[in-house]
Amino acid sequence: MSFSASVLTLYPEMFPGALGLSLAGRALVSGTWSLEAIQIRDFASDRHRTVDDTPAGGGAGMVMRADVLASAIDHASPEGDPRPRLLMSPRGKPLTQARVRELAAGPGVVIVCGRFEGVDQRVIDARVLEEVSVGDFILSGGEPAALVLLDAVVRLLPGVMGNAVSGDEESFENGVLEHPHYTRPQEFEGRQIPEVLTSGNHKNIAAWRRRESERLTRERRPDLLAAQPLVK
Ligand code: SAH
Repeated sequence: MSFSASVLTLYPEMFPGALGLSLAGRALVSGTWSLEAIQIRDFASDRHRTVDDTPAGGGAGMVMRADVLASAIDHASPEGDPRPRLLMSPRGKPLTQARVRELAAGPGVVIVCGRFEGVDQRVIDARVLEEVSVGDFILSGGEPAALVLLDAVVRLLPGVMGNAVSGDEESFENGVLEHPHYTRPQEFEGRQIPEVLTSGNHKNIAAWRRRESERLTRERRPDLLAAQPLVK
């Protein structure tokens, strides 16, 4: 059974977008995963196909209507659909590699992309949407966030990455950032590849990489080390 993604959006033309190329694109063609982009506007009931309205209580911008979005969700994900329902949202839980792994191990995802000021809270509650953020900044819509999430998930699906080992050593997989990389030429603008890496001594290479990885994590992301269990 392949991983199935349904994306609810006002801009279905944004999909598969970047996911139609490279590894994800090939996996899409080969059927490792499938993607359906659903136009939310098709579920509007009035003549003007209205999907948003002014915020209750006043203020700037528009809010996506609960009723229209609920109809779209019920169409994409009828009762009994085992896939988690996500809402891309800056107020959500920040996406982590651990959550990405969980999603990749599951049957797929239903993703709601917000626009304007966001969506009416009642549809979030009534359809039990899990709010997911891709970072502490504001995008103009949930679509780029959905592409980011799907890219991270799809590369983990069986057979998508050529060299399966590279997935486990990546930044965040072991709670640390990855060590720096080097390749030919041996000298670049007077800078050499660190000697240990060309020594052929695999034990020393592994030790160097571990040290560099810890150093970078300490310098750049001490929060990751603080989250580590004490004994490993
Ligand atoms: N008024 C909202 C921001 C709305 S941005 C607020 O201040 O919280 C419009 C839409 O873009 C959101 O509904 C959401 O779907 C998407 N979006 C914006 N930033 C995002 C982020 N960091 N992560 C995930 N989705 C985001």
